[in-house]
Amino acid sequence: MKNFWCEVYSEKILDNLNIIKKLSGEKKLIAVVKGNAYGLGIEGISEILDPYVDYFAVSDMEEAQKVNTEKEILLLSPLVTINDFNSNMNNIIYTVDNEKIIEKLPVDKDYKVHIYVDTGMSRMGIAADRLDDVIYKLSKDFTNIRIDGIYTHLHNTKNRKYTIKQINTFKNIVLKYKDIIPNIHCLNSSGVLNDEYVRLCDFTNMVRAGNVIYGYDGASKGLKKVFSFKAKVVNVCEVKSGQYIGYGCTYKAKKDMHLGILGFGNIEHFGFVKEVKHGIIYDLAKVVYNHIKFRPILFAEGRGVRILGRPNMNVTLIDMDGINSDSIITVDITPILADSAVKKIYF
Ligand SMILES: *Cc1c(COP(=O)(O)O)cnc(C)c1O
Repeated sequence: MKNFWCEVYSEKILDNLNIIKKLSGEKKLIAVVKGNAYGLGIEGISEILDPYVDYFAVSDMEEAQKVNTEKEILLLSPLVTINDFNSNMNNIIYTVDNEKIIEKLPVDKDYKVHIYVDTGMSRMGIAADRLDDVIYKLSKDFTNIRIDGIYTHLHNTKNRKYTIKQINTFKNIVLKYKDIIPNIHCLNSSGVLNDEYVRLCDFTNMVRAGNVIYGYDGASKGLKKVFSFKAKVVNVCEVKSGQYIGYGCTYKAKKDMHLGILGFGNIEHFGFVKEVKHGIIYDLAKVVYNHIKFRPILFAEGRGVRILGRPNMNVTLIDMDGINSDSIITVDITPILADSAVKKIYF
């Protein structure tokens, strides 16, 4: 895909890390690189982050193997299974997120764990009122295990009252371990962005963040989007007034024009989804809306580029009016949803 690629700017990543440090009050950082580093390429992103973060976090062992680091990698709840504990990687910190697994934990090797406590998400997790027993049991029966941390997840940060209650529940059960267990954490990206939550989490010493590192979130705090999709115009052709353009005859040229051909389409999830039939009212409303309001997702020379007809599997057609054939087109799509095979170039 040499005509379509994703640029990732390490300078912006480092700027974001500095802002996160300030926002969090200099807490340690667990860089979450699950989901192929939020679509940006787990190998490349971990290499950039490695010198600047304290731990990495992923959601399964397949991802862990791709992280370019000698540092420790936390295997997050809720996808940890007992099989993972038998991994031969020696820098994995496993999450213990249920009591049933404890009986089966390996005793023949030394490793670290973090305990995941459920404070309201009801996904996995040790019940808050069971934490003491679990810590007691792990300490007594497993001399090979080091309890390196305790965490919970803030899953409803838009609701202030709910989140404060969650933080307080967590605080009440972990405060007594503050000087015994090295790492206590619950702030994720939306937690770090909220000054009040950060203040209330003064008993924690780490944050566990993904979105803010990549700039998907936090523009109001100066965090920058660290990536940009780019495309080159592969071919240009001439179209006469009155000719239909592309599949389905959804666009008819109103004048003689030049048409640019871009080498990407639905296969990269450009436009996110294939057209779905919603019924006539919806379709009409959409046509009217798109007609009145031109919301570009392609840009060249600092302005929106018009897409002609419907993008198909791997081709998108554009109006070349005012665009040079050697222009680089910026494509506003999100890597989380885009095909992870799109080539990444790290700067
Ligand atoms: C994904 C995830 C995070 C990171 O969330 P962001 O909103 O990207 O900061 C933190 N903790 C857990 C358990 C996660 O699954």
